[in-house]
Amino acid sequence: VKKIAVMTSGGDSPGMNAAIRSVVRTCAYYRTECIGIYRGYQGMIEGDFVSLTARSVNNIINKGGTILKSARSQEFRTPEGRKKAHENLIEHKIDALVVIGGDGSFTGGVVFNKEYNFPIIGIPGTIDNDIYGTSHTLGYDTALNTAVEAIDKIRDTASSHNRLFFVEVMGRDAGFIALNAGVGAGAEEILIPEEDLGLERMLESLKKSRRTGKSSSIVVVAEGDRSGKNVYELANYVEENLPEYEVRVSVLGHMQRGGAPSCFDRVLASRLGVKAVELLLDGKTNLMVGLKDNEVASTDLEKAIKGGHEINRELLRVSDIMTT
Ligand code: ATP
Repeated sequence: VKKIAVMTSGGDSPGMNAAIRSVVRTCAYYRTECIGIYRGYQGMIEGDFVSLTARSVNNIINKGGTILKSARSQEFRTPEGRKKAHENLIEHKIDALVVIGGDGSFTGGVVFNKEYNFPIIGIPGTIDNDIYGTSHTLGYDTALNTAVEAIDKIRDTASSHNRLFFVEVMGRDAGFIALNAGVGAGAEEILIPEEDLGLERMLESLKKSRRTGKSSSIVVVAEGDRSGKNVYELANYVEENLPEYEVRVSVLGHMQRGGAPSCFDRVLASRLGVKAVELLLDGKTNLMVGLKDNEVASTDLEKAIKGGHEINRELLRVSDIMTT
């Protein structure tokens, strides 16, 4: 392997720049050429490449977003699109690829590898933490801190007006952000897709909060919650059933995807970038690098996509106990 390309694909997340920096610097360390591909698979199809040296990635470890931009590419889902992408890689004498992204980006990588036997290593970059084979994806820790800070602020206004707030956080089909930010911000209730506790239970718990003298309440709702109601319908439902509550809704939205990465995400990105390049130089492919028991470890890329995710039961119990 003499020339490695790196790209960011799918939804962006804080820490992607730190990972790009790490891949580029590790390549420089091993005297291997490094190419950046702009706009993920779409840029690969269009040959939108840039040569990156150790100095190209100065002062980006602290920046949110991704300097290589990200994109979703319909064309890469077609054999013709992937053929063009492969031709561009060959033309630029690129031998291996590091893909920083989520499960969709990894799926594209697996399909591409099957067709062209092109070496690929994935680095999990998504705030949702919904990837098997790593305790943390890049950006998850930062998103948690952003969500907790926002919920703290909402609590200030909630308690000044004795209000009940429903706060929707991101996470797609995973409840990691909701559960962890909920516990971290002291939410009274946390609704996540993995655990349908039923709306009756929520009403009971809110009634109890009032009886025991709580003046304000926060319910954190994961965007993928399966209670059958969206966050606005949930708020209406509670207002209808518990008229003593004045209810408001806040959807945190894309702010959770932005901002400077936390120290944890910067360190994780640096570690994963080194490992990704070393695996490629070692002739390995179709692996995702991640964190297991605080050690950098690799997982089969297909397993990372399909392995599913499990919510921490102990944390659910902690949340339950904290709301008595
Ligand atoms: P996010 O966490 O934001 O969802 P992601 O990496 O899962 O990130 P996707 O939009 O699902 O984002 O996938 C990124 C890109 O990967 C797609 O736009 C497409 O180009 C490519 N891709 C996904 N699935 C396939 C597939 N089955 N075949 C070929 N390419 C694919």
